[in-house]
Amino acid sequence: MLKITLATGNSHKVDEINLIAKDYNIEFVLPKGEFNPVEDSDNFLGNAYCKAKCALKSQSTDLYLADDSGLCVDALNGAPGIYSARYAPSAKERINKLLNVMKNKENRSAKFVCAMVLVNKNADILFQTQQECLGSILKEEKGQNGFGYDPIFYVTSQGQGMAELSDVQKSKVSHRAKALNKVLEWIKNEYSKNQDK
Ligand code: IMP
Repeated sequence: MLKITLATGNSHKVDEINLIAKDYNIEFVLPKGEFNPVEDSDNFLGNAYCKAKCALKSQSTDLYLADDSGLCVDALNGAPGIYSARYAPSAKERINKLLNVMKNKENRSAKFVCAMVLVNKNADILFQTQQECLGSILKEEKGQNGFGYDPIFYVTSQGQGMAELSDVQKSKVSHRAKALNKVLEWIKNEYSKNQDK
């Protein structure tokens, strides 16, 4: 079993990622010790790399995976984007603020974006990808599942709100799932094969 440190302090994210990765012989674990990254980039991939560098301080595994994600709304020129977590103090306030800002907007197109960066112990980037889940901003909250902006995000490919999808459905269509699948395939086809040599 290949162990990879996931650069996050959030054990829910580890569970979500382990669910998506369940058919691969890989276990994602939380970083050992403190995890306080400084995200000072102006883009998702840059901020994911900041998190990866912070996680590898522990040197507890050979590989480190970091992700950075957010919601980008077309009518707001991509905001809240990399500032999604800091758009307002609580999840409820973030949703209310966005619904309010979008009140009179006709173009409601939006996308969730997820960047992932896989690094080794020396902070070399082995693989990186950025993936999207396309949709639009609902006029009111819908559904009970998920977290963050899920209750106000309509997933075009599913014809349903993100918060109406089960965990298993979301793990097939989300931005994070798409990015993680690219990483898992790269590990299977490129990294693991070279380790066996
Ligand atoms: P993080 O970089 O994955 O921690 O995500 C930053 C912020 O983006 C989160 O705090 C959420 O507000 C928002 N976000 C990212 N992914 C999702 C998602 O799948 N559903 C709802 N909100 C999300």
